[in-house]
Amino acid sequence: MSRYWSAVVRSLTPYVPGEQPKLADLVKLNTNENPYGPSPQVIEAIRSGTNETLRLYPDPQATALRESIAACHDLDPAQVFVGNGSDEVLAHAFLALLKHEAPILFPDISYSFYPVYARLYGIAFEEVPLTESFEIRVEDYFRPNGGIIFPNPNAPTGRLLALGEVERLLQANGDSVLVVDEAYIDFGGTSAVPLIQRYPQLLVIHTLSKSRALAGLRVGYALGNADLIAGLVRVKDSFNSYPLDRLALSGGIAAMQDRAWFDATRHKIIASREGLVVGLQALGFEVLPSAANFVFARHPRARGETLAARLRERHVLVRHFRAPARIADFLRITVGTEAQCAALLAALRDILAPGRALG
Ligand SMILES: *Cc1c(COP(=O)(O)O)cnc(C)c1O
Repeated sequence: MSRYWSAVVRSLTPYVPGEQPKLADLVKLNTNENPYGPSPQVIEAIRSGTNETLRLYPDPQATALRESIAACHDLDPAQVFVGNGSDEVLAHAFLALLKHEAPILFPDISYSFYPVYARLYGIAFEEVPLTESFEIRVEDYFRPNGGIIFPNPNAPTGRLLALGEVERLLQANGDSVLVVDEAYIDFGGTSAVPLIQRYPQLLVIHTLSKSRALAGLRVGYALGNADLIAGLVRVKDSFNSYPLDRLALSGGIAAMQDRAWFDATRHKIIASREGLVVGLQALGFEVLPSAANFVFARHPRARGETLAARLRERHVLVRHFRAPARIADFLRITVGTEAQCAALLAALRDILAPGRALG
């Protein structure tokens, strides 16, 4: 606390990202990074863009990147907004599209950045409880609101809401924006993007951080009706005209174009996830059905905090959330390479060995 801080800064509760430790021999399964790395074409594009042109500002409209994203999704570039990671795109969506009189709605167990943005921008919100089985029930959102936002698949549960349910919500909710955060949609879900043509209140957000293995490059985008996109552009141009640098633009274009790498790596991750689920279940874990690149699991005999600590002693990092209470015994485990998944299971087998004390 400094006496020079503004009242706004004093009131903030910032988001706490997963740990990025410097240790080399770590099995790092705590922040849903992609274990396979980006397409070699991305590296090549960044390398060939690393030259004296860096003295020039990048294209403030990111036209070429928006064109390649539009081509991937069969949309018009006017239906695409890009930002410095989807976190920035989300922040702009909160200010541009979700700040109204009525409170916005999102699940009680969801991406913990949403309440942070809502507080930052002074947006009232209500957290809608997931069902007992940690599912979104769309009827719970059939009420007046200033907007609705949730990840699909949800994070940190990994549970997917069927596309028909997303559409049912759109049919019942025409007067405010529905933001579907599809950070993990490429790992087995069906995207809501095709619904954009029929529902002008739908904004879908994607990131290159997970399925395109570019968390370090910071590229995310929103897809929606051109009017929604124009609202996001107004906020962006009141904040930072150049959120994506030249290298991010070049790398992002190459990532969108290398469909073969994208498909091969995400299918490997989906296959490893299925193996990981079986392995965890064999150790006695309850694992929620996941359509993401992570699983959410708890063990009937061990507290989440204890398991996370014991894994850490064995140099395996997973994510544990203390709150809300009903997920305190779950671990969120990123799907790594086959070798990383095997190392995780071996460590858990050791930790849970019969006769071992579990605090
Ligand atoms: C990872 C994640 C994001 C943010 O991704 P960036 O593009 O890296 O900022 C957004 N939403 C959810 C639900 C995520 O898990």
